[in-house]
Amino acid sequence: MTVSVANGRVLIVGATGFIGRFVADASLDAGRPTYVLVRPSSGNQYSKDKVAKALQDRGAILLNGLANDKELMVKLLKEHQIEIVISALGGATILDQLSLVEAIHSVGTVKRFLPSEFGHDVDRADPVEPGLTMYKEKRQVRRLIEKLEIPYTYICCNSIASWPYHNNTHPSEVIPPLDHFEIYGDGSVKAYFVAGTDIGKFTMKTVDDIRTLNKSVHFRPACNFYNMNELAALWERKIRRTLPRVTVTEEDLLSAAAENIIPQSVVASFTHDIFIKGCQINFPIEGPNETEACSLYPNEPFRTLDDCFNDFLAKMKDENMKQSDENTKQSNEIPPPKPVVEAFAITATCA
Ligand code: NDP
Repeated sequence: MTVSVANGRVLIVGATGFIGRFVADASLDAGRPTYVLVRPSSGNQYSKDKVAKALQDRGAILLNGLANDKELMVKLLKEHQIEIVISALGGATILDQLSLVEAIHSVGTVKRFLPSEFGHDVDRADPVEPGLTMYKEKRQVRRLIEKLEIPYTYICCNSIASWPYHNNTHPSEVIPPLDHFEIYGDGSVKAYFVAGTDIGKFTMKTVDDIRTLNKSVHFRPACNFYNMNELAALWERKIRRTLPRVTVTEEDLLSAAAENIIPQSVVASFTHDIFIKGCQINFPIEGPNETEACSLYPNEPFRTLDDCFNDFLAKMKDENMKQSDENTKQSNEIPPPKPVVEAFAITATCA
């Protein structure tokens, strides 16, 4: 069930980032008029330009600016008659959304705002620091949205489909372990894993669905409900060998969090919250302001974790092949060529 949105124009803020790219691609896949805000410069210029260009080639309209430039955002929202705003700003700039929220309020024509959430229910989850600080910032954004009565949807998509490395903000860019598994605690606490493409796809389904208005939407695909031990066994079946397990204790994760190395310690605190405390599973979804994606869209399957792990396997074989070609090439050439280091945009294969 959807409400008709007059022009359905979507503005995605943070589309050159990890999660934002999935959302922007899904918006284009859905045939929506898609605008993306590109900020002028960052240390990651090459890959960012490549992503922006790829989105533009697919039909996205690029706008330049900063989400925290309220005046500019008011102008852009009006000029392009934007009706849906989705933010996927990264953990370091969550509070930049406060100005964006004020801009949306001042324009008054945006029919739905999705702030940068894409994880857990930040009002419920209570990770240790430094993860808690990020949640406090996300809560602050929520409270301003609610105070200004901006129509919203909060996406609580849980973990991205991948091996949940405790020190990597984008674990789905990394192939699961090939030497040993690090198992958190006794490895029995379950979590939900969602492919990045599905984070984008189901996010876009919610944006003009009346059932998701002013609600948190939790992603809980039953097919992707795994604990660490099951995740390890799944990967072992793919690579057809067993790997040793090393236990990472609760204390180990707490120490990694306490080191306060950003962003790794933030990930350690979330890992502790998920795989020790069970923050994804210790509550039912039954409040008036929350709903669940599978029950909203029962005919739309989620990609399985099994499929995502097949993608990792294919990526691993591909990388091995490239490496062996490179080795052959080098052994046939005298003198060996000087290696050329080129920055490539890393694209998650399954997630
Ligand atoms: P990234 O750091 O990868 O990307 C952030 C994006 O925001 C980039 O496009 C960046 O632009 C842009 N940006 C930052 N500040 C501004 C600004 N002021 N104005 C305009 N653009 C800006 O973020 P992630 O994808 O890692 O994180 C997005 C959200 O997803 C976060 O809420 C995070 O907590 C969550 N997340 C959830 C995961 C999960 O497993 N569930 C995994 C990872 C993230 P530029 O390209 O110039 O840097």
